[in-house]
Amino acid sequence: MGQVQLTAIRKSYANNDVIKGIDIAVEDGEFMVFVGPSGCGKSTTLRMIAGLESISGGDLLIDGLRANDTNPADRGAAMVFQSYALYPHMTVRENMGFSLKMAGVKRTQRDEQVNHAASILKITELLDRYPKELSGGQRQRVAIGRAIVRKPKVFLFDEPLSNLDAALRVDMRIELSRLHKELGTTMIYVTHDQVEAMTMGDRIAIFNGGLIEQIGRPMDIYRRPANKFVAHFLGSPTINFVNRPDQSKTQQVHFLWQQLNCTNPAAASVGVRPEHIRLASAQEGVPAEVLLVEYLGDAMIVHVKLQGGEELFKIKQSDSQVQLAAGDVVGLQFNHDYVLAFDAKGTLISRL
Ligand code: ADP
Repeated sequence: MGQVQLTAIRKSYANNDVIKGIDIAVEDGEFMVFVGPSGCGKSTTLRMIAGLESISGGDLLIDGLRANDTNPADRGAAMVFQSYALYPHMTVRENMGFSLKMAGVKRTQRDEQVNHAASILKITELLDRYPKELSGGQRQRVAIGRAIVRKPKVFLFDEPLSNLDAALRVDMRIELSRLHKELGTTMIYVTHDQVEAMTMGDRIAIFNGGLIEQIGRPMDIYRRPANKFVAHFLGSPTINFVNRPDQSKTQQVHFLWQQLNCTNPAAASVGVRPEHIRLASAQEGVPAEVLLVEYLGDAMIVHVKLQGGEELFKIKQSDSQVQLAAGDVVGLQFNHDYVLAFDAKGTLISRL
């Protein structure tokens, strides 16, 4: 079992409240991702679960038992640090078996557990090498191997891929997802990278300023973000927001608002993702001027400004064959099925 429950958890350093009361229930076997901008409290929360930081308030339950004051070594949680935390003077085998050795596990059993972990991670042939003889990705596997040998109830990952290059990060993402399926063990994974969160998490918890904005399955959150913060945090390029125009705005801005089809009087703004806007001719949509076109190969991102207004939009088109240039006038069409409405506080409202 590996259930982790946080109830009204708080953390303060002197007078500084960095975690302001959070609730999360991580199910046994689940891959939970903590994601949010830098400094929002993800690592602190993970470190409180590991026992590396004291808990200022609230309850931490591991498999139903209060663990606030349990010795870190007795919590059944294994933290995976970034790969540079390997001992340079030990071989891979010694690095992976070190915690077992410290715990007094006999040599033969230690070897058995290290060999088993190495075969899962496909690094058996590296066991006699030293860290400096490994690539970045191989080192990261060893760092994970050190945690696997301890047979934890829960793995805790703190930005484990952040010092790998982009291509390797993608490989390791897939590798970690495979590992999770194979082991079936609870994993809690901290990252500031929304793509890692979206692709790896069974569920994700979006942190902001020491609080949690939303917890849910990645696509559910992407489609139904609880508020404007979450809507903006997930998705690249970011979502477009349009504020309800007042009397001072031009006719063109009012026309834009009409085309968004928002009739709910409580709506103060709407959000529409770049992939939910279609480009048509100026006569067929809301006229806008092209500012910049980014060709990505499989898609293009078009930046436009509303004609007769200040509103800027990013539009993502999968067809990058269309030739567009700065100064061209296009028409915007909105896919109403996906337009989101928010109230004056920025909270999602269920009806457009
Ligand atoms: P994240 O992992 O989301 O980037 P952290 O959990 O590392 O954020 O930090 C959350 C906040 O707590 C930050 O404002 C940080 O400056 C503060 N903080 C973290 N550790 C300490 C510490 N030991 N003493 C004082 N403040 C700290």
